[in-house]
Amino acid sequence: MKIADGIEMLELSMNLMGRESTIYPTLIWDDDTVVLVDAGIPNSLQQIKKAMEEVNVPFEILNKIIVTHQDIDHIGGINEILEELSELVVLAHEDDKPYIQGEKKLVRLNSNFMNRINALPKEERGKFLEMFENLHVEVDRTLTDGEELDFCGGIIVIHTPGHTPGHICLYHKKSKTLIVGDAMNVIDGQLVGPNKQSMNEEDAKIAINSLKNFENYDIKYVICYHGGLYNNNPNQRIKELIME
Ligand SMILES: [Zn+2]
Repeated sequence: MKIADGIEMLELSMNLMGRESTIYPTLIWDDDTVVLVDAGIPNSLQQIKKAMEEVNVPFEILNKIIVTHQDIDHIGGINEILEELSELVVLAHEDDKPYIQGEKKLVRLNSNFMNRINALPKEERGKFLEMFENLHVEVDRTLTDGEELDFCGGIIVIHTPGHTPGHICLYHKKSKTLIVGDAMNVIDGQLVGPNKQSMNEEDAKIAINSLKNFENYDIKYVICYHGGLYNNNPNQRIKELIME
């Protein structure tokens, strides 16, 4: 879906742990730079290529991937892309870098989660664990809070810890779009806060507190990785979510 010139919300379908859902990576570009924000689960390459083709941005000119955080549905597709585009630069927040590179165990792979995996039927469990095998990616450039990336009209990095330690959101200045990864979600057309089920109580508090970091931005569109686009006065709605 076109958001504005040079920014599209892509749509990929994914099946994670037996659950079908749609995810929404964002594509941002200018004359020299094509950035994909988040790259889907493993085996998403053909879908990504097709989605880019549909918006007339050739896959071959993709040169950057920014990951909002370390979860498998955000980093899983990167290695397959790298196999075809070896010059591609991967950017992520410094606090999630060691997880993405495999130096630390992904935060989601805690005992709670492993119990859920172990409860899956054998074949499904095998398939799922296989996805984690070729997951780790070298981060070429780390990002810090408040940094402005000087491509595509300026993209500001906003550190929003909680869901993971190095979770970031991106503000695309030209279109006033806030790309939030998993910091917020859209459910039944409504913008809602972070999914508390995936976090402990302390991290959930940190995640809600992170929403305050959006207060100084004039936001026209919000793109949630899970749920898609929200454009019904986001600033007001975010204020409500902080008060809740
Ligand atoms: Zn996530």
